[in-house]
Amino acid sequence: ADQRKFFVGGNWKMNGNKASMDVIVSTLNEGGCNPNTEVVVSPPAPYLDYVRQKLDKRIGVAAQNCYKAEKGAFTGDISPQMIKDVGCEWVILGHSERRHVFGESNQLIGEKTAFALQSGVKIIPCVGEKIEEREAGKTEEVVFSQTKAIADNVKDWTNVVLAYEPVWAIGTGKTASPAQAQEIHAKLRKWLNDNVSPAVAKSVRILYGGSVSASNCRELAQQPDIDGFLVGGASLKPEFVQIINARS
Ligand code: PEP
Repeated sequence: ADQRKFFVGGNWKMNGNKASMDVIVSTLNEGGCNPNTEVVVSPPAPYLDYVRQKLDKRIGVAAQNCYKAEKGAFTGDISPQMIKDVGCEWVILGHSERRHVFGESNQLIGEKTAFALQSGVKIIPCVGEKIEEREAGKTEEVVFSQTKAIADNVKDWTNVVLAYEPVWAIGTGKTASPAQAQEIHAKLRKWLNDNVSPAVAKSVRILYGGSVSASNCRELAQQPDIDGFLVGGASLKPEFVQIINARS
């Protein structure tokens, strides 16, 4: 785990306004964040430019989604080129809410993966099983097929940070136990070893997401295959700094 820089993403989802973002941005800018953690926050699309302009340049900014084309008749969507044009570096792809509220398929997420990377935007693709899939013993089958749809579209893994987010743990207050999370992280790393390359398996950060908080982050952060977090609810609160510092 030590050769991989700890990474914490904050997914603000469809929350906030300029006033509330000012508060989070100043908390992050004030310091107190361990410089050994790579930090990226993800505001809603209308605020990408605003947050990028105000936030310390050491902190990255991610869009929460984008389309697989540069421009055109795709009402309501945004492109990787637009993300870059407002100075942002990252995009989250295949978040469980994109998959399960908006019906995005593995195929589409794969196409978005290829296009974002080829456009020069770094990606945080998300995988994770639903509770009924876990209970049916299908966790590995689901996360491996989601990961394959992404991996088939990646040439250079240096621009990819993978997130494992069990759907039953997102926004529910139910966290995977450190052992449950570590088990899937280790299996994902083995999958990368066997299906991509040993070098990629060793170097790619795998984040855990799902109700991460100040109170559970330290134990999770000690697991050998957990290289950081993707944080929803708690990334809107001052405790986000404690999560950034989970390894300090
Ligand atoms: C997320 O949105 O990626 C997430 C993990 O949300 P929460 O931390 O609120 O469960």
